[in-house]
Amino acid sequence: MKTAVFSARRYDRTMLERANAGAGHQLLFFDDRLTAETASLAAGCEAICVFVNDTVDARVLDILAAQGTRLVATRSTGYNQIDTAAAERHGIAVVRVTEYSPYSVAEFAVGLLLAVNRKIARASARTRDGNFDLEGLMGVDLHGKTVGVIGTGKIGVIFARIMAGFGCQVVGSDPYVNPAFEAAGGRYVSVDELLSCSDVVSLHCPLTRETTHLVNAQTLARAKRGCILVNTSRGGLVDTEAAIGALKSGQLGGLAIDVYEQEANLFFQDLSSTIIADDIIQRLVSFPNVIVTGHQAFFTEEAIGQIMQTTIDSITAFERGEKLVNRVPATGNPAAGT
Ligand code: NAD
Repeated sequence: MKTAVFSARRYDRTMLERANAGAGHQLLFFDDRLTAETASLAAGCEAICVFVNDTVDARVLDILAAQGTRLVATRSTGYNQIDTAAAERHGIAVVRVTEYSPYSVAEFAVGLLLAVNRKIARASARTRDGNFDLEGLMGVDLHGKTVGVIGTGKIGVIFARIMAGFGCQVVGSDPYVNPAFEAAGGRYVSVDELLSCSDVVSLHCPLTRETTHLVNAQTLARAKRGCILVNTSRGGLVDTEAAIGALKSGQLGGLAIDVYEQEANLFFQDLSSTIIADDIIQRLVSFPNVIVTGHQAFFTEEAIGQIMQTTIDSITAFERGEKLVNRVPATGNPAAGT
């Protein structure tokens, strides 16, 4: 099936072509992000393949539908960038990657937590500069601390299991009870209790209308003073300006983020030779107790291999008229457009 692949980096091409070897789809790769301005690149393509910062809103879907697109396949678990109701109106099917190594993201969240708590990135920068001083590098033991997990699905459970292995008390909040979380040693509490008792809060819930700015000035004020916030889920879960305020007052003791609410114009590209106009991210990276990575938690060989294979399998199933096991329901995305 002729498929336009947007936001295609070199590793996307290599891994997608490898997965496509037996399937033989005609893949057209574009570096560009999908927007209303670039949608015409997909003219004549029955399928398009997108990533987290592509725009698949009603306007883009109008253009795609008029050009003959019938399938949108996102190379991600989250699909908040897609207006699924608008896709449904056009009869365009939407598929995602329901499952791929959740260890990739959970392990990275732990890595970010260790890095911000023990100032590992700062220490490494110092030693490269011949500075072996320990001043300013003190952290705390995680053993015995309370870790709050918001969203106890596939990734949240693995994160909880790892933190329990560190000797932490693990508490969680989720509208649905997951027995695997309790089996990992986690205990369900209300969001308020989680915030007030946790030394570390890690976000593992999807971005929906309900969870947008879940972490805001009010919730941060209810958090335990000095707590560390880790976000490997979606940038829109955190009101970044409120987080900056909490860092300045010391209410937040550390912030480790792999996702950022305005990441679409920044992440997945080398901007090191340009002037970055986003003052908020520039302020964030100026704090000694903040670590920012560019949406790389999923980026392991295992996860990328599974993402690409599932994507190709979905395109093949669509072409053959088979059941789409990774189809997103039309009502599945109340956050599209946020
Ligand atoms: P999942 O569907 O298995 O789990 C999500 C959990 O969040 C579910 O248990 C759900 O009930 C819960 N939830 C929904 N609304 C909630 C709320 N208001 N409060 C608390 N919990 C709530 O998903 P997963 O595979 O564990 O992935 C979690 C998220 O991680 C994804 O939605 C995605 O945004 C993010 N993610 C990020 C990366 C990355 O590279 N940074 C990679 C993959 C996934």
